[in-house]
Parts: sequence; structure tokens; C-alpha cells
Amino acid sequence: MTKERIIKANPKYIQQFQKGFPLLNKENVTTSMESVQDGEIFKLVDNKNTFIAKGYFGIQNKGRGWLLSWKEQEAIDRDFIFKKIQAAINQRLHFFYNEDTTAFRVFNGEGDGFGGITIDYFDGYYLIQWYSKGAYSFHEEVMQSLRKLTDFKGIYQKKRFAQEGKYVEEDDFVEGTRPSFPLLVKENGVQFAIYLNDGAMVGVFLDQREVRKRIRDSYSKGKRVLNTFSYTGAFSVFAALGGASQTTSVDLANRSLSKTIEQFSINGIDYEAQNIIVEDVFKYFKYAVKKELSFDLVILDPPSFARSKKHTFSASKDYKDLLKEAIAITEKNGTIVASTNCSTFNMKKFKSFIEEAFKETTGKYKILEEYTLPEDFKTLSQYKQSDYLKVAFIQKL
Ligand code: SAH
Repeated sequence: MTKERIIKANPKYIQQFQKGFPLLNKENVTTSMESVQDGEIFKLVDNKNTFIAKGYFGIQNKGRGWLLSWKEQEAIDRDFIFKKIQAAINQRLHFFYNEDTTAFRVFNGEGDGFGGITIDYFDGYYLIQWYSKGAYSFHEEVMQSLRKLTDFKGIYQKKRFAQEGKYVEEDDFVEGTRPSFPLLVKENGVQFAIYLNDGAMVGVFLDQREVRKRIRDSYSKGKRVLNTFSYTGAFSVFAALGGASQTTSVDLANRSLSKTIEQFSINGIDYEAQNIIVEDVFKYFKYAVKKELSFDLVILDPPSFARSKKHTFSASKDYKDLLKEAIAITEKNGTIVASTNCSTFNMKKFKSFIEEAFKETTGKYKILEEYTLPEDFKTLSQYKQSDYLKVAFIQKL
């Protein structure tokens, strides 16, 4: 057996690690990690050299590696990885049997016991995402597990490690057959056009499934809906199917126009009856105020960080101002769906942005409901940052 590298925990963090905190960071160890190899297994010990846990090295934007086992005798090998993936699949069997929803997350990194790797399911095709070179060093073990545990039609992958979580451009096909794209999948009966071979984003963010359903089922009928940072228009499609009198989708990216047209069309909706606008959201807000436009439902789902020609938007700094812009064009008693995937602040902080935004504008509001990640995006209670999604349905009173 090869000798495992020993890493010493910073005494301040020993207890956290013992309780199952899974991320290895520079700050929470005292050993230098300069010469470590991607994918190398290490043992984490306390100041008396007592074993705490073992894991692997892999540099990603979230740290230097992941802890995987708190049992000294447990080997990190093919069998270990097989069992983790098997357990993850077994917990999601009801998704595999659901005919109305054929896209979901099968394996969610540290939430399923192996940080740095996620696996999504798209109607028989699997998409593996590797978040570090270290994670990728286990690709043969992961592939063997998928061959044994599933009868996949094909496997694709995204290597998100060009540098710190950036995507490596390539065709992404790994094994099996290639579908013709777009691959059509369903979510609660609604179709999505998926492209597994065309860049980092495949056409849908699966973590918003419950929010989309809620918008369709309870918030859209007869409403004028504004969907900002709309990407492929997923929220607009659900709103239209829920009976919205009109939807407006706004996104800066040129690709969003054709993608949104496609998204409406595959669901039998006449896209020409909808507004699809390629523009900076902040510019659109100004235009809407000038034209005295107003909406019954405004959806805000910005990236955590984005730079456009005129604007830099950072959710942790600018969400309050974004809300203020939305409040100005939302009807009294209308609803704002405020969403963020920013992991640097929690729901409490997010609610403080909401509180301040209303205090500085129209005053009264009511939070009608809140959402976090759905169950297939399994998280670890010992690692709060992994529970990144925060969505509030806010009524403007
Ligand atoms: N809400 C979408 C996902 C949003 S992804 C969904 O549910 O599918 C973030 C999107 O914000 C990207 O499509 C990006 O092009 C867009 N974006 C980033 N900055 C923007 C800006 N200033 N104005 C408009 N769109 C922006």
C-alpha cells in the first residue's frame, strides 16, 4: 500500500472536522499543501497525531480537497466509490420511476459522500461534472460504477477545472451513444431542450424544479409576468403554462433569444405572443419605469456574480438594490420571486436584504413562502454552504 500523506488539522478546526465538516481549506490545516498531487489520498490528524478522517486533494474554488471517510480502516477505492453512488441512486429511485420528470440530480458531491463530483440524469443520459483535477482522477472508478449500476444510453461530462471551477471547452462525450440534440426531457410534464455537448450550461438549472412548479400551479393565472436573468426562459414557460396573460423574459446573452423561442415552441406555446428581450436587466428596469410598465409577478434569479459592459453585479453587495428596482415595477399585492444561488450568505442575511429594500421603498411586504434545494440536491448539515439556494416569494403590500 502506498503511504498516505499526513495533514495536521489546525487545532481551532479539529472539532468541526471530527463532527464531519468535509472541506479541506488552507486555513484549517497547519501542514503546507504545496507539493501535493491531484487525487492523492491524505490522512487528517490532530496535534497528537490521532486520526480524524481521510480524503483526497483537488484544487477547486471551494478549497484544496474533500474529506471522504472518518474510519481509519476504510480504503478510498473502487468499492468505496461504487457504494457511494449505489446509495445515492437507491435514495432517488422514485425519481427514476417518475414519468413526468425525467431530469434530476443523481449524485450531489459532498451531500452524497464524495465532494467534487456531481452526476445528473437526463432521460437515460448521465452528465458527470468534475470540479477538480483531483476529482477527475477517480473517473475510471466512477465510470465502472455507472456501468454496473445503470443501463445508461450515454455518458457526458463537464470538466470544471480549467482554473478554479472554470469549464474546459470540449465535446464532453464519454461513452455509449450520442443522442441527437436537443435531447428532450420532462419536468413535471413540461419539456426542456437539453444540450449536453454545448458548453458549461446545458439548458436548465435542475435545482429550481419546485419553484418552477409552484409558479405554474399557484402564481401565474391571469398574471403579467416579468422574468429577469431569464436564460432559456424556463420560468416564463412555466408561467405561460400556468395561464399567465403575458410573459416578458429579459437576458443579456444573445443565445437567450433562440433558446427561449425553442423552449416555448417545444411546449406548444406561440412564442410570438410572448416578449423575449435581449438586454441588460438594469437597463430594462429603467425603460420599464419610464414607460410606466408594471407586473403582477417579477422573478429575480441573477448569477452570484456578473459583469456586463456597464455593470458589475455581486449578489452579496447588490441584491438589495436589485430588489428595489423590482419593487418599483411590481403592482401592489403583486409578488416578487427573489432567488439567489450565492453561497456566501444565508437565508437570514437574504431576508435582511429584503427587509432593507422594502424599508427604503414602499415599506410593507409579506414573505409568502421560502424554498431551498430540492431533495435530489442532497446537502450535509455539517457544511452549511452547500445549501446554497435561497428563494423567497414576497408579496408587496
Ligand atoms: N433564471 C435562469 C437562470 C439564470 S442564469 C433559469 O431559471 O434558467 C444567469 C443568466 O443571467 C445568464 O443567462 C446570463 O446571461 C444572465 N445575465 C447576467 N448578467 C445579466 C444582466 N446584467 N442583464 C441581463 N441578464 C444577465
